[in-house]
Amino acid sequence: MDADIIVIGASPAGVMAARNASARGCKVILLDKKEAAGVPPHPANTFFKGMFDRTGEEVDQSYVIRNLRGAYIIAPSGRNVLFEGDAYFLDRKKFDEFYIKQTQDAGADVRFGIEVLNVLRSEEGFLLSTSDGKVRCRLVIVSDGINSRISGLLGLKPIKYPDDIAWSMEAEIEAEGIGEPDYFEYYVGNHAPGWKSTYSPCGGNRATLGMYVRRHGMDVSDFFDAWLERFKRVKGLDEVKVISRSTGGDPIAAIPGDIVADGVMIVGGSAAQSGIGYAMHAGQMCGDVAADAIEKGDTSKGLLSEYRKRWNEVYRKEYYLGRFALETLRKMSDMEINEIMKVFEGEDLKVLRGSPFNQALQISKMMLKNNPSSILSYRAIFRNR
Ligand SMILES: Cc1cc2nc3c(=O)[nH]c(=O)nc-3n(C[C@H](O)[C@H](O)[C@H](O)COP(=O)(O)OP(=O)(O)OC[C@H]3O[C@@H](n4cnc5c(N)ncnc54)[C@H](O)[C@@H]3O)c2cc1C
Repeated sequence: MDADIIVIGASPAGVMAARNASARGCKVILLDKKEAAGVPPHPANTFFKGMFDRTGEEVDQSYVIRNLRGAYIIAPSGRNVLFEGDAYFLDRKKFDEFYIKQTQDAGADVRFGIEVLNVLRSEEGFLLSTSDGKVRCRLVIVSDGINSRISGLLGLKPIKYPDDIAWSMEAEIEAEGIGEPDYFEYYVGNHAPGWKSTYSPCGGNRATLGMYVRRHGMDVSDFFDAWLERFKRVKGLDEVKVISRSTGGDPIAAIPGDIVADGVMIVGGSAAQSGIGYAMHAGQMCGDVAADAIEKGDTSKGLLSEYRKRWNEVYRKEYYLGRFALETLRKMSDMEINEIMKVFEGEDLKVLRGSPFNQALQISKMMLKNNPSSILSYRAIFRNR
């Protein structure tokens, strides 16, 4: 055996899994086909402290480009709600390098520029063919991103609703003072069916614009172009320079499917665990359970399912509630979204804490107080489209 565990893909989740398993004394190899950490940088480069706190890690200012104060959610009418809370715009290359260093310090052998081409089960574990030769291990952690080819090779379907991946385009833009505001802006409505368009200021004259769409194919460039024009109108800008564009998929409403098999664990975007902080937390759970399995000499599905169990306890309800909310949003007309926004406008949304049941109760109270007829907008969930 070359390693106890091989992690395929240095995604935020994969890196955490490798770090935690190495810290527990396992021999870990982390392989990624990228030429180096964060090269090219992944377009996911923002998060909220509240989400990142779930990992138990401290945000390190060495990889923060800009500290923000929260986000506005903006309806088609322009009505909006403000979510206050610490948020960050990241230098994604520095962020990746920071956690790769932790992983190496914990003892993992991190190798970039190596693509895993095939994974075969052997008597004692797995034989991986890579662009740099063959390696053997007892347990494989798959973290190769949203279009997980390796999961397919292993016969697993780690995403329950792959049709609900939000296909995305993000662009770095430049215009006078565009990076100055202290809040992200997320626009919902039929211009971005199924999810949102975004404006993320990152200081000075720089920002990013994003478009995330569900159920309209993988190419969302037409939606993005329309958003860019609308953004210019809303902000009164004649000229916005687009510096670069990137594309990808965000499994925000896609829900984890088969993420454990004998000797195999799947984590991060490949397991529909969307969001940097949430994916890192899942990676930690995965790495801890993998280390238990190696210590006990038992890499069976039965033992590895502890990872699924831990994830379910923390996130299952939250992910299903999120999917329900996004499905309702996807089916609503712009007018219905405007009605819903009246419910939340001006409210202190910090009260939306606790169990999903408690949150639903708080929302019902706000509805009755601010706009009782908005309840009719929820008819949308019964629409069959
Ligand atoms: C445009 C866009 C913007 C987003 N913005 C945000 C954001 O601001 N904040 C947020 O929290 N979430 C954001 N998300 C969601 C985000 O995608 C996820 O939360 C997470 O960062 C994605 O990581 P991942 O697990 O999909 O894997 P990735 O980060 O894609 O990592 C997979 C890795 O596997 C490697 N790999 C793949 N195949 C192989 C192979 N065969 N052999 C070796 N290596 C391989 C790849 O090189 C890659 O490094 C965004 C998503 C998109 C598409």
